[in-house]
Amino acid sequence: MDCTKCSICRSRCLVERLGGASITSVLNEAAEKGAWNCSNCWKCIDACPQEFDIYNAIIEKRRLEEAPRAYREAFAGICRNGYIFPIEELNTIREMWGLNKIELVGPEVIRKLIKEC
Ligand code: SF4
Ligand code: SF4
Repeated sequence: MDCTKCSICRSRCLVERLGGASITSVLNEAAEKGAWNCSNCWKCIDACPQEFDIYNAIIEKRRLEEAPRAYREAFAGICRNGYIFPIEELNTIREMWGLNKIELVGPEVIRKLIKEC
């Protein structure tokens, strides 16, 4: 169903409660941007009386808004290393904590997955 701009989602949103602008502000025409400000708690979706597809709205708006620098750097890191952060030392750190080593997927596999998406 259509969004009626009732603001219920906005009143439940954690980002809004902390003073930020999320997709809930965008939907209610209280801000032009905010789709990237989200904790993925989905309280907005649970609260919407119209069962409006807020998740899809977030994705659509993200296509129109430039991602924040941290996201762009994270994505560049994934394309370059296969992971957001270089984690060659992961198994060393795991060993320090008494955890078993894990087998990591190589960056070429991650890049292939991204390309196929
Ligand atoms: S998305 Fe739902 S809760 Fe949010 S303003 Fe629109 S109708 Fe109201
Ligand atoms: S999913 Fe995002 S927009 Fe929705 S309530 Fe949580 S932080 Fe706000």
